[in-house]
Amino acid sequence: MNHLGVGQQQKKTVVCNNTEVQLVIPQQPQNIQYTRQPHVVYCANCNNQIQTHVQLKIGKGQLMMALIMLPKLLCACVIPLLMDDCRDAVHLCPVCKAEVGRKNFIFE
Ligand SMILES: [Zn+2]
Repeated sequence: MNHLGVGQQQKKTVVCNNTEVQLVIPQQPQNIQYTRQPHVVYCANCNNQIQTHVQLKIGKGQLMMALIMLPKLLCACVIPLLMDDCRDAVHLCPVCKAEVGRKNFIFE
């Protein structure tokens, strides 16, 4: 299920070759709540409407889980490091590969 993260659009009139042109500038909402699923958003880098590509990366929360488990269960401390659910979800633009958002595992 995709959440449409497109915010209000801002219109701006510019004069180009003596013709008034109305530009619609997509505005990214300030507080998109990214999940682990791809989102449809405007990329601030290339200004395309894109569906984000989600890449799972090792984050602070995942390392913290491993550290918490380390003194109790030596072998089990690697489990959080191997679990995709414990990773941070990084949303990338498929066009320009810029990071457009992130869902951290524990730390926001
Ligand atoms: Zn982009």
